[in-house]
Amino acid sequence: MITVGLRIDVDTMRGTREGVPALVKLFEKHAIKATFFMSVGPDNMGRHLWRLLKPQFFIKMLRSNAANLYGYDILLRGTAWPGQVIGDALPHIIRMPHEAGHEMGLHAWDHYTWQAKIDRMSNAQLERHVRLGYDKLTNILGTPPTCSAAAGWRCHDRALQVKEAFRFRYNSDCRGTFVFAPLVNGARVTPQIPVTLPTYDEIIGANGITHDNYNETILALCKPDQLNVYTIHAEVEGIGQLAMFDRFLDQAKQRGISFVPLGALPQLRGVVPDGHMIGEVTEGREGWVAAQAA
Ligand SMILES: [Zn+2]
Repeated sequence: MITVGLRIDVDTMRGTREGVPALVKLFEKHAIKATFFMSVGPDNMGRHLWRLLKPQFFIKMLRSNAANLYGYDILLRGTAWPGQVIGDALPHIIRMPHEAGHEMGLHAWDHYTWQAKIDRMSNAQLERHVRLGYDKLTNILGTPPTCSAAAGWRCHDRALQVKEAFRFRYNSDCRGTFVFAPLVNGARVTPQIPVTLPTYDEIIGANGITHDNYNETILALCKPDQLNVYTIHAEVEGIGQLAMFDRFLDQAKQRGISFVPLGALPQLRGVVPDGHMIGEVTEGREGWVAAQAA
């Protein structure tokens, strides 16, 4: 018998609108409960994708002085104006996993800004982001989120200290191998449940991993007597890879693997050792991510 903590990260308006209802339905079919980490503020992820996918195009446009040809408003649409607030547009969708009995956590207010700018944000700015997200999600659900997961696994000691005021039962901000309580300036803070397994976008297409063997690759990494935590994205497994993820859940069952919300993992109930969180470069991801120190 192998237990895997399953979390769903919801980063965008589209992931919320399309991915969340599809996953809630799929989990009902498979009788699975998991943890949903929601982004509830402005969706500025377009900027992130733009930067990642089209740097050459952008440079070319600057070089050709396209701004003078087309006007700045067209070029900057969706990149300079704040995105629409997800929690205001789709509160009924955000309530769906809650009403279906899944564990609800805060992922982000503004996913893009947290992920791209956390290093430069002051403690007051960090506090404001968590507060806005916490209050919005509390208003939508009628009850506060009990856990949180930093956007893009971008978290550092200052952010950990800021999050203490919100009294989450646990945080899942980093990659690692076992549940631990980070020491920040010598004091223990809220326990961390690290993500132990890679995500779809990190490994697909590399080292011979294709859609034909992706599910088996992940399932083979799930072992008894160790912490197993897997992250899917509403934008990926909830939309384009929904059929593959449906098969993943069937294949898991055949292997005797069951899924639980992170808050139900037995490791959280035992003695939680001290540890440290550090920034680390990880395969398949741009820049640094928070990781459990070895
Ligand atoms: Zn995310």
